[in-house]
Amino acid sequence: ENIPVADLLADPVEKIEKVNCTPHPAISLPSDIFEPARRNSAGLDLNDSQILEEVHESIRNFELPPRPEDATAEQVSEMIDTASLAFHEWSDLPVETRAAALERLADLMQEDMIPLMGLCAKEAKKTYQDCVDEVREAIDFCRYYARRARADFTEMPLPGPTGETNTLRLEGRGVFGCVAPWNFPLAIFTGQMAAALVAGNTVIAKPAPQTSRIAKAAVDLAYKAGIPRGVLHLAPGGAEPGQALVSDKRVAGIAFTGSTKTAKGIQRTLAEDDTRPIVPLIAETGGLNAMIVDSTALPEQVVMDVIASAFLSAGQRCSALRLLLVQEDVYDRTLHMLAGAMDTMIAGDPVDPATDIGPVIDTDAQTKLNDYLQRVRERIVHQIDVPDTDTFVPPSIVRLSEIEDLEQEWFGPILHVTTWKQGQLAETVRRVNALGFGLTMGVHSRIVDAADQVANEARVGNLYVNRSMTGAIVASQPFGGERLSGTGPKAGGPNYLPRFAVERVVTVDT
Ligand code: GLU
Repeated sequence: ENIPVADLLADPVEKIEKVNCTPHPAISLPSDIFEPARRNSAGLDLNDSQILEEVHESIRNFELPPRPEDATAEQVSEMIDTASLAFHEWSDLPVETRAAALERLADLMQEDMIPLMGLCAKEAKKTYQDCVDEVREAIDFCRYYARRARADFTEMPLPGPTGETNTLRLEGRGVFGCVAPWNFPLAIFTGQMAAALVAGNTVIAKPAPQTSRIAKAAVDLAYKAGIPRGVLHLAPGGAEPGQALVSDKRVAGIAFTGSTKTAKGIQRTLAEDDTRPIVPLIAETGGLNAMIVDSTALPEQVVMDVIASAFLSAGQRCSALRLLLVQEDVYDRTLHMLAGAMDTMIAGDPVDPATDIGPVIDTDAQTKLNDYLQRVRERIVHQIDVPDTDTFVPPSIVRLSEIEDLEQEWFGPILHVTTWKQGQLAETVRRVNALGFGLTMGVHSRIVDAADQVANEARVGNLYVNRSMTGAIVASQPFGGERLSGTGPKAGGPNYLPRFAVERVVTVDT
């Protein structure tokens, strides 16, 4: 039942600043594989304020290289010619050779951490912390998949009940198309490409048009790490190379992260030609992600986690919180505190280390989000000011009457809120499920049974209890959703690489 919470101070902002919230449980990493990335690159200690200042300075002064030219449909077809020819040789290499190349790529990314951060800040408008996390995650993916590949791609003897020998082995599928988003332009781009390559595929990597420079930097480092040029191809651009890649019947699989609509389009294209092999689509798409807060939850922790989940990265994460569901009894006080905390957020230039929230990716995104805010202006219960330069969207809270009023995923710093009544917890989760998406969900409660109930009902790929719901860690929180949120494979998880492979069994009678 309800556990009384401490009385709030009069001033919510002061309250938040004073309260020393319980930190999230320490992340216990499964092994030493992450150590080098977490220590930061090139021996840099980012806790040292002088070094930190130098790093900030380099990022502020970083100059963007020219954009790589968009690939035409014809060029994509030529890339597929070469990648098809290179496939057998690449796939026949011992897994160790491919795994070692990924580890070299991780080392090179570490050495180049600062220019890579500069690219992320300037091309993707990422804040300083997001840049650090971005490079680290890319490195983590390389090291983790190298390690997984050694385990997954080793021949497995199976029982031979009539005296025969049976062996199971995994092999690359062929030419893989990797289609990456702009919101994790280095991490997801690298993760897809690394998984496909280490599994023995050759790769055509198509980044989002907004972030093709970052993708080029990653591919150049991959070449430097020893991945042959015939094996990995960068196809920058938008719909033209995208369509050419997906519709080419020599392409044996697609890894895609982006919108649900585009994933459906890819699925249709893959199915169009009856003579084309049935190929897998590994898709991670959007979400209408909810966080459910009951009256026993720690209010300060809730506020911090809502801010982090809904507004950091300017809300441009698939995992981001879109719909906050607060138990009616604590709604007013939660909103009051949340508004106070929002007022302390700094929206500004992403290269300024003090910035919490930068602009959204481009004017298209800005216009869509601002038009929506204009349309629902009467329902905005709190909003903070943002600079009128660049592509800022004001972080906003929009009140909904019903869960079902949430129309679609708004990919920016817009949080919707509504209430639920005591006794309707399971029903509330079922209503969220009924929206059709299944990526992330959060629950804040100090009642163990309540959290368990949500865990039992929730049909999502990643459920977070009493913490923020973004920033999944490679190997610890494999990431990916179900239903409208994706086809299920979890990036950074132990079952990911086999999705990029075929399984073959050889039976020999002796
Ligand atoms: N893995 C990211 C996270 O946990 C989200 C990835 C995405 O936005 O596609 O926040």
